[in-house]
Amino acid sequence: MTSSTSSDGTLNKILQSLQKFQVDHSQFASSIETMKEWVELLASQGNLPNGPQEASLASENAEMAPITAKLGADTPRKASGTSRIILTTYPGQSGISPIVMDWGNPDPLKRGPVVVSRHPDTVKRRNAIGAHGGSYSIYYALAVASKNLDVDHRPDFTNTEPPVNLGPFPQWSDPKKIVSMDPWGHRAPWDFHDMIKKGGVDIRPTIAVTRAHMKLPELKQSVESGRLKVDGKICLNESGELAVTKVAVEPVWYLPGVAERFGIDEGTLRRSLFENTGGSYPELITRGDIKLFLPPIGGLTVYCFGDPAKMSDPNVKLALRVHDECNGSDVFGSDICTCRPYLIFGIEEAVKEAQRGGSGVVIYFRKEGRALGEVTKYLVYNARKYCRLWASEYFKRTENIAGVKDMRFQALMPDILHWLGITKIDRMLSMSNMKHDAIVEQGIPIHERVPIPDELIPEDGRVEIDAKIHAGYFTTGKIMTMEELNKVQGRAWEDVDVSVLSFSMISTG
Ligand SMILES: [Zn+2]
Repeated sequence: MTSSTSSDGTLNKILQSLQKFQVDHSQFASSIETMKEWVELLASQGNLPNGPQEASLASENAEMAPITAKLGADTPRKASGTSRIILTTYPGQSGISPIVMDWGNPDPLKRGPVVVSRHPDTVKRRNAIGAHGGSYSIYYALAVASKNLDVDHRPDFTNTEPPVNLGPFPQWSDPKKIVSMDPWGHRAPWDFHDMIKKGGVDIRPTIAVTRAHMKLPELKQSVESGRLKVDGKICLNESGELAVTKVAVEPVWYLPGVAERFGIDEGTLRRSLFENTGGSYPELITRGDIKLFLPPIGGLTVYCFGDPAKMSDPNVKLALRVHDECNGSDVFGSDICTCRPYLIFGIEEAVKEAQRGGSGVVIYFRKEGRALGEVTKYLVYNARKYCRLWASEYFKRTENIAGVKDMRFQALMPDILHWLGITKIDRMLSMSNMKHDAIVEQGIPIHERVPIPDELIPEDGRVEIDAKIHAGYFTTGKIMTMEELNKVQGRAWEDVDVSVLSFSMISTG
């Protein structure tokens, strides 16, 4: 007992020393950075011969290494205007003065713009970590590196404003209701025009709104069969062409709010985001004062049928489908699942609701293969086919490979509903219990849940839907017992070139 207490005490002392060391190191690094900038300032004013001081300062302080690094002599200087790479920044460092970000403030000008650019004009004023464009931020980096894009290029936003008015809604100023997108993101270039033009701050929108037509072969059949009526406004003609308002949204995470949704602390979230992205965003660790993160992930698109103002009107009915991307089915017609048929059904029902004077909305999330991606998805497909999958084992294969059944974690999904001003859903065109629970938990009631009609389920997709129903998906039909589920079987490889099976023999030994 005594020895355990004394070893606890010793461990505490070590921990305290480490914490003190960490604080000292941070202050030291910050001081070095400040001194370096003074030296640079003097050099730029001609008071010091440039070069030797900078070099000696850097070389005498090994501690500089974690903060900055020098580019090779042949590296073009143009990209950042200086040869120095800023690896990370610290609060209180010379010149660091983030533009105020008061998340949830109802006045967009007081709330402040999302500023994430690392352009030399803006880098010290940033109030967000990450980059614009979600996963496409990497292509931006590639375009700059390959000199296809001048890093000084600033977008010309003339005539790009939303063609329809959306909001503002009271939900926009509730810091707990919207935590994964910027509610003012579609207005940024106009709300902060002066800051961009006069202040030279690089501010970009994270939401864009447009209007378009949509043409799907199934909807032509819907018109032909009389399920869908041509009204000339929403359903435009006999080919089933639809008029639609579309909203593209890139993710903007307010880290304290995201952490709270997942029931974890902000530090744990920041550390995991840093460590499990290959250490990509050091400021997640060093800049606790910056609360926003633009993650390199896909966003979402809203497809609204009928008058967009009706989405938030509590006096008319709303039909809604929340759809997570399944490229193989949605675009390329795979029959292994019910994704495209359910998506088409969702669009058709949304259109009908809008034609009845209500509102119809389909929201499309880029969360391919339950947010596990297509590589994992195809591995799961193979594992199911090699073993001739039974519906009762459906989720086990995913778990064996990915470690989880599903990584979509619907906790952040309802943000878009709050943003659209939706306060209730009359007809939810989804069977997912996870989506249902996440929406209801956010205080948005769902009055009716509409499953996919049986006749729209492809034969091979039966396994998927039965397994999902058994796991808790909503149905108005029968919930199968384990015994019955054991009789539902997916297609094996017999319809596939058997030569691939030899690979299986080798790989499984
Ligand atoms: Zn699918």
